Amino acid sequence: MVQAIVGANWGDEGKGKITDMLAEKADIIIRFQGGANAGHTIVNDYGKFALHTLPSGVFYDHTTSIIGNGVALNIPVLFKELNSIIEKGVPKPKLLVSDRAQMVMPYHILFDSYEEERLAGKSFGSTKSGIAPFYSDKYAKIGFQVSELFDEASLKEKIERVIATKNVLLEHLYHKPLLDADELFDTLMEYRTMVEPYVCDVSAYLYDAIKEGKNILLEGQLGSLKDPDHGIYPMVTSSSTLAAYGAIGAGLPPYEIKDIVTVVKAYSSAVGAGAFVSEIFGDEADELRKRGGDGGEYGATTGRPRRMGWFDCVATRYGCRIQGTTQVAFTVLDVLGYLDEIPVCVGYEIDGEVVKDFPVTSKLEKAKPVLKTFPGWKTDIRGIKEYDQLPENCRKYIEFIESEIGFPITMVSNGPKRSDIIYREVK
Ligand code: GDP
Repeated sequence: MVQAIVGANWGDEGKGKITDMLAEKADIIIRFQGGANAGHTIVNDYGKFALHTLPSGVFYDHTTSIIGNGVALNIPVLFKELNSIIEKGVPKPKLLVSDRAQMVMPYHILFDSYEEERLAGKSFGSTKSGIAPFYSDKYAKIGFQVSELFDEASLKEKIERVIATKNVLLEHLYHKPLLDADELFDTLMEYRTMVEPYVCDVSAYLYDAIKEGKNILLEGQLGSLKDPDHGIYPMVTSSSTLAAYGAIGAGLPPYEIKDIVTVVKAYSSAVGAGAFVSEIFGDEADELRKRGGDGGEYGATTGRPRRMGWFDCVATRYGCRIQGTTQVAFTVLDVLGYLDEIPVCVGYEIDGEVVKDFPVTSKLEKAKPVLKTFPGWKTDIRGIKEYDQLPENCRKYIEFIESEIGFPITMVSNGPKRSDIIYREVK
């Protein structure tokens, strides 16, 4: 069976923890999009890890972890991460890298920072990992697949051709040092040595795995609202964050994805620029940021403080719908235990009218939150294992949100550890 684990919001919903948990029963875990620009934080018996590229299943020895063709593969980052988990005592994971995955080139990272520098105050808040230049080149058909590392003559010729255009930009637009073909070729040969033992025809591997009845997890990065088509364009990421894209970014039939677990956080947080209707500021935001997640809401990759907000029913209903959600994992609920009252955004007021459907970006920028306030539960809910044991106000909060978003909440996460989970029967 193929199951996707994806986010409904702006990312950082706790997908890493849910994937890590579901990986216990999985054979294969695949990353299908994105690059080392976002991270998952996972807490388990080996310690606390921030993974940017490795799939979250790497901590189990019964699973195979795969970097799918849809990923922006940064080879040095991948191997640095692999070595760092092995150093901490994690058994060497079984890893496969798609021969069709494209590589983040050193110049993608340079162009990412040069462009942010050029845009200055109007920048996108990129993590400068090279992701936007990478995907631009992929679709401009000047990207490099892993498979190309193995044909040296063609590789040399292509490097010359591609850097000729890059050097025009470097010289005339950015006024930066030019790229050297030989140096780039040597770097790519180092990449080849690193990646060679893992290269695989992933779609063929998955075809067989599906026939053998293996359990496969597709692990999404970021969330619906960062999708380039359905998100808050242009303040989005550069690859699709939707479960549907799992079929393409891993290389398996769309009809095989039977279960779409959408991860939804009990309050909102976002990184980077862009409209964020239920955003809060000042002391209120600082308090939630400090208490949020596991050790505060700060970027797993950049350490940047995340923007904070109340739960947004409008954005989440849409985020779940566009994912094709079959079940919802509702996370980080324990964090809200300090609040006397908990506001929830239930509608957007745009030009004097209240809407419940998530609008396009130009309208979103005008939206003001319509809030409804719930009484808090004022207790620590960590350690609770049964849904019925949760305080009444806490259950009311969950059930209200479930009815607003219109998808069943089957899991409630009340702490960062694998075992901090309450399964819930939905009638
Ligand atoms: P991801 O990118 O969606 O995997 O999310 P992140 O890893 O960036 O953010 C989730 C953060 O919340 C991590 O620090 C997790 O350890 C933590 N976390 C996940 N689930 C829970 C939960 O139920 N309660 C608390 N307190 N922290 C959680």
